Amino acid sequence: MVGKMPKPGELLHLRALEKGAPVAPPLVQASMFHLPGDPTGVPGYGRSENPTWEVVEEALAHLEAASVALFPSGMAAITAALVSCVEAGDRILVPSDGYYATRVLAERFLATLGVQVEMRPTVDFQNGGFDGFRVVFIETPSNPGLDVIDIEAVSGSAHEAGAKVIVDNTTMTAFGQSPLELGVDVVVASDTKAPSGHSDLLMGHVATNDDGILGRVREWRKFSGAIPGPSEAWLLHRGLQTLEVRFERMCQSAELLAARLAAHDGVRLVRYPGLEGDPSHDLAKRQMARFGFLIGLTLADGETAERFIDRCRMLQPATSFGGVHSSAERRIRWGDDVAEGFVRLSVGCEPVEELWSSIADALAESVTEN
Ligand SMILES: *Cc1c(COP(=O)(O)O)cnc(C)c1O
Repeated sequence: MVGKMPKPGELLHLRALEKGAPVAPPLVQASMFHLPGDPTGVPGYGRSENPTWEVVEEALAHLEAASVALFPSGMAAITAALVSCVEAGDRILVPSDGYYATRVLAERFLATLGVQVEMRPTVDFQNGGFDGFRVVFIETPSNPGLDVIDIEAVSGSAHEAGAKVIVDNTTMTAFGQSPLELGVDVVVASDTKAPSGHSDLLMGHVATNDDGILGRVREWRKFSGAIPGPSEAWLLHRGLQTLEVRFERMCQSAELLAARLAAHDGVRLVRYPGLEGDPSHDLAKRQMARFGFLIGLTLADGETAERFIDRCRMLQPATSFGGVHSSAERRIRWGDDVAEGFVRLSVGCEPVEELWSSIADALAESVTEN
């Protein structure tokens, strides 16, 4: 334990430590704090504040160049952002081909509370303009199709129409894309993916420079009780320390693998924003720092795709993505609007030539048996 309890907002990891103090941040596992008399200015109760969250929020705030509120999952962060920006009678626009849980949240819960929910496919997102919307929610590149939306253009016209713009930046992280710099109001992200990086926790965050929204988001967290566990927060902090090196490696490997997959006879279609000729490529080059670590590949049919995933010794058959180990799955099994043979491949940190030979072997085996 730290000798002296840090105050909320105190710069924990930048603070000069007392000689002999642990360098790793404190894992503060507490619901109660010693609180005689005046309760202001110190941690008081575990649903309102926790020094471990603050270390993580400070690291994320540095990456996002914005204020951050930490949540126990990406969906908890998305819920907080949406609930903080809309009221009954408002209209919101969400992508019809983005992460499915965001659509379910909007259609099955926000809609029953009186919010009008409309959807558009990512590729047609700007058609029809944004008049009358309170919130325009985008996800780019979209998961799993990897279509890209022009963040700056959407932001500009949505703001003209009086809407707030929320971007789900999960697939890129702050190292791959900076939506706040391109004008949006709020970034939400699932830190379950690349930021944690080791497939052992769920976490998410909201980042914004809008103090009104941030205040509502923090209030929502406190009163809804959607709070991160200190241990998971601590583990996320560990993950964040290597996020940049992992992300660089994953993107670099993905670029190489996407090009080889695109040239492979057994693969029908490869979607990767970094490929010349990909429908997302020009826009991706303009607005993204890297092209990401997700690849969408379409094989002949569902059986071939299952066999490929099954036979590949270096691919973990699993949902979710962004871990150090490469993983893959057929998204149609969750009802995404993709081909039977569509595989979402999340490229990890393995030595890339070894990874490629496992993929090439599995393709050879699964495609010839067809
Ligand atoms: C995984 C994911 C989420 C949800 O995150 P959880 O941490 O699972 O709640 C939201 N958006 C995108 C794009 C995702 O991939």
